[in-house]
Amino acid sequence: MLTAIVGTNWGDEGKGRMVDLLSADYDIVVRYQGGNNAGHTVVNERGKFIMNLLPSGILRPETANVLGPGMVVDLEHLFGEVERLRAAGIPVEPGHLLLSDRATICLPYHKLLDCLEEDRLGDKKFGSTRRGISPVYADKYMKKTLRLGDLLHADTLPRKVADLLEWKNLTIEGGYGHEAVTGEEILAWLERFGRPFADYICDTTEYLSAAVNDGKNILFEAQLGALRDIDFGIYPYTSASTTLAAYAPIGAGIPFARLDESVGIMKAYSSCVGEGPFTCELFGEAGEALRAAGGEYGAATGRPRRVGGFDVVASRYGARMQGCDYLALTKLDVLSYLDRIPVCVAYEIDGERTETFPAGIDALDRAKPVYEYLPGFGADISACRRMEDLPAAARDYVRFIENAVGCPIRFISVGAERDAYIKLF
Ligand code: GDP
Ligand code: MG
Repeated sequence: MLTAIVGTNWGDEGKGRMVDLLSADYDIVVRYQGGNNAGHTVVNERGKFIMNLLPSGILRPETANVLGPGMVVDLEHLFGEVERLRAAGIPVEPGHLLLSDRATICLPYHKLLDCLEEDRLGDKKFGSTRRGISPVYADKYMKKTLRLGDLLHADTLPRKVADLLEWKNLTIEGGYGHEAVTGEEILAWLERFGRPFADYICDTTEYLSAAVNDGKNILFEAQLGALRDIDFGIYPYTSASTTLAAYAPIGAGIPFARLDESVGIMKAYSSCVGEGPFTCELFGEAGEALRAAGGEYGAATGRPRRVGGFDVVASRYGARMQGCDYLALTKLDVLSYLDRIPVCVAYEIDGERTETFPAGIDALDRAKPVYEYLPGFGADISACRRMEDLPAAARDYVRFIENAVGCPIRFISVGAERDAYIKLF
């Protein structure tokens, strides 16, 4: 069984929480794109954990976790993340964690360039997480960066670093007027944060090929959501990688494998971190109340997230791009405080109503939300564990979303804890 768990919206739909729940049935969890620019929060009996690079399966000792070739890995961040888990009593050992020798290393100067460029942009900034993700993906496609496997060849590493810097300093020093980066700095950083992972770096494609042949269950964990996909998202306010389920086997390093299932994680309302068009956004008191109720502050950065009602137009598009077989609807409990629940059912662009998600930023920037209201639940639903425990209005809300999006809802999450969910089929 090969399953992808993906976000249908702007990210932070609760993927980490669902991977933590579903990973019990899987032997291996693989991250296939992105870096430490997003955060997955998992709350279980051992505490609350925020993972940026590590797959959420790391919390289960019997599950193997892989960082695939599609990822960009900031070794310093990985080092810190592993240390934090160990401090909390979670063992991280080779075999429990495997790092693809083909994954790209996100170097300190990628972070530096991210910051220099955001600062240069000023008011026109992208709202980058400043973690170097766009610069390092750009270098990957320029074929001018290091991969984890390079760490295993100490003899050629200094030469590679020197060649990269000869080119990169043209931009850092020549372009931005910043002090040049030296080979010694980079090599010292690689020694300090890369060497401890030497035994974790391997040909994960060989490992996963064997696992597929043995009929092992593999879970692919996405970061961010469909609307942040580099090709199909709200470009240029997207991430730099492919967040879609269709990319999972490639980014995981097993392009010959076929996905059996794409599971879409969809939140019962909307949130969006950073800049870019967010048509369904609620402002003022309505926005403040929803943000507070949902605890919508970035797991990676602590930034307050922008919030809005459930967006039918964006969610239907996202679920389609993800090829979802079924959905998990998360954070339904958050809406309990509302007397009437706002739902964005269409967009209005230049006076015309549309239910199709626009492809370009120009149309999106002019889109206005068409809001309708559904009845509030009138009760706290966080203790409900069966569909019939839910108040009628909550059941109606779930069915409304299911019909509007056109994809069956299999799970409803009513709390952050592992067991706070309802399974429908
Ligand atoms: P991800 O990036 O998609 O993994 O999501 P995040 O972890 O960034 O954000 C989801 C947040 O909502 C986390 O703080 C979770 O602990 C929390 N959460 C997940 N599911 C639920 C739920 O059903 N109800 C409530 N109240 N919180 C939830
Ligand atoms: Mg997140």
